[in-house]
Amino acid sequence: MITITSNQYTARAWFKSRKSINLVIVFVGFAALVFFLQTLMYPLIADVIALGIAYIVFFHILAKRAIAITCPHCNGYIETNTPWRCGNPNCQQNNERVDDFPFVYHCEHCGVEPKAYQCHHNQCGKIIFLSKDKLTTLCATLIRSGGKSAPPPRKNPAADKIVQENEAIRETEYKLRKAKLDLELKGIAEKLEPIKVKSKRERMRTGLLNRTEIDDEVKRMKADADKEFANDEPGRLQRYKDIEDLAREEL
Ligand SMILES: [Zn+2]
Ligand SMILES: [Zn+2]
Repeated sequence: MITITSNQYTARAWFKSRKSINLVIVFVGFAALVFFLQTLMYPLIADVIALGIAYIVFFHILAKRAIAITCPHCNGYIETNTPWRCGNPNCQQNNERVDDFPFVYHCEHCGVEPKAYQCHHNQCGKIIFLSKDKLTTLCATLIRSGGKSAPPPRKNPAADKIVQENEAIRETEYKLRKAKLDLELKGIAEKLEPIKVKSKRERMRTGLLNRTEIDDEVKRMKADADKEFANDEPGRLQRYKDIEDLAREEL
């Protein structure tokens, strides 16, 4: 495919006048071809052959001719029929029919003309202005693989800082709310904690057992004292006395 390389500011004008220029090229070529072929064959056959060649050249070669620009920052070569994403905030759609809608023309979906293109060469990514008013809004970007485009250029560092600060505030608010809720939850959980089933000994101390239960518990406590004071007779007797006192209080 034939490509012409143009200045970044004149690329749009070149694209718009592309059809007229192509027509002139084809017409001049056609006339020269007819003149040449007629010296070799019947004029009618020469006309038909020249017409066929002119058709192919006009519709299949020149109409698809891409215009290229050179990045003023990295000197990278950029074909304007690279698939691109519209920079209009209300559109942001991908433009894939780039023979008819290159980024130097306008968006196929919303009709907006990009005022700039973000260089897609690695290590560059700078803005290439397509008109001398140097507007960074409506900046076209390359469609990256997976349908995602390159991030839009940073236009306003102060605005970015505000966005970051707002995010930090939101995060702090979230943490504060969470801490308050956790505290409330803890309080509720404490209130709802089931009353633990008390052991028989605790119940005996708090006077909740009946006679049989007291006798059983006395036996068990004495058995425990036998083990605990196996080699301490006075200790064992003292513990027996305490147990009996406790049991007596219960009755
Ligand atoms: Zn560049
Ligand atoms: Zn658009």
